Amino acid sequence: MSRQGHVPVRMCVGCRKRRDKGEMIRFTLSTDGRAHVTKGNNGNGRGFYLCPDPACLAAAKKKRRLDPAVRIDYGSKD
Ligand SMILES: [Zn+2]
Repeated sequence: MSRQGHVPVRMCVGCRKRRDKGEMIRFTLSTDGRAHVTKGNNGNGRGFYLCPDPACLAAAKKKRRLDPAVRIDYGSKD
């Protein structure tokens, strides 16, 4: 028995559920206190993952898993 197709999972800092990495939004924290959505694999620096749900962001800040001062930049919506 072999497990094929290993799927990387990441934990949401809000609800702490583990999900397929592809379902999560990865943010990178920059030194100016903003978090930017990380696109692709160029995720250098401190990063964290959230579900694509604003409630998880709110929970992360409320539970101090994320600095409440952090400003989230979701980038342009299209
Ligand atoms: Zn979540």
